[in-house]
Amino acid sequence: MTKTKTTFLARALAGLGLALSVVLACADEAPPMVAQQVSPSAWYVEGVSALGSPANQNFISNAAFVVTPAGVVVIDALGSPALATRLVAEIRKHTSQPITHVIVTHYHADHIYGLQAFKALGARIIAHQAAKVYLNSDTARLRLEVSRQELAPWVNDDTHLVEADEWIDGEKNLTVGGVQFQIKPVGPSHTPEDLAVYLPSEKVLFAGDLVFRSRIPYVGQADSRHWIAALDKLLAFDAVVIVPGHGPLSHEARKDMQLTRDYLVYLRESMGRAAQNLEPFEDAYKNTDWSQFEHLPLFRVANRMNAYNTYLLLEQEAR
Ligand SMILES: [Zn+2]
Repeated sequence: MTKTKTTFLARALAGLGLALSVVLACADEAPPMVAQQVSPSAWYVEGVSALGSPANQNFISNAAFVVTPAGVVVIDALGSPALATRLVAEIRKHTSQPITHVIVTHYHADHIYGLQAFKALGARIIAHQAAKVYLNSDTARLRLEVSRQELAPWVNDDTHLVEADEWIDGEKNLTVGGVQFQIKPVGPSHTPEDLAVYLPSEKVLFAGDLVFRSRIPYVGQADSRHWIAALDKLLAFDAVVIVPGHGPLSHEARKDMQLTRDYLVYLRESMGRAAQNLEPFEDAYKNTDWSQFEHLPLFRVANRMNAYNTYLLLEQEAR
């Protein structure tokens, strides 16, 4: 063998070794995904309380599924196609029924980048039509481009945005295999297109990102006034169990919705007062007592931006 060939081979092998070790490292660090039973027919998987990264495959949100005698209904598609495939494998541990529907609670990246895996299996995707504005926006396109960089190889050039097969604009009762799902628009709250899904036969509420547990909520461009009102609407469902968009299951609806609700109310009160007094944001932020929330995961990365967005929103509302 010539020296060039040997060098080439050595490099190729080293490259392969590196690639393998990256894959193994990623596989090592990837958070486990085990479906936990919520009620007789419902399960959910729980993402980690972190920002999306290649190490966690963007597994930072929850997804759920309900097994009926005529098919499986999935709620949210997770943050990468690979995660969706892992979710399908979890579903297969419990049933061989086809996956007939995916209900999207809202079109944030961590809940939708897995949609294409379900679409490929023939599932019908249902979402609220208000998401079309986001889907056709530059924001969605740029977000995907950035994610392809930041979340590679889990989000890559093959990852694409998937439209719903059915856009709804009001409440919808979906019945699959005799099991009823009440799909209720609760936006504009966390997003314009928020949907909550209620399974009355087992009193399970899939709340999407209207409910965050064990971490600081992501407020973004949310309409916090309606969000607070929507939480009150959700309380009317009389759910026994709530599957939040992030964090663990809740068996105490009122108490556990309280964290999200208290946080939003506090943001609005503190930033509203500042906006009304024309106090600059920097001063208002510094002078606000955050002690009841600063122990929560993601406080450092999310709170300031949440406060700032709320400050801007309340400036507008005050006009
Ligand atoms: Zn979200």
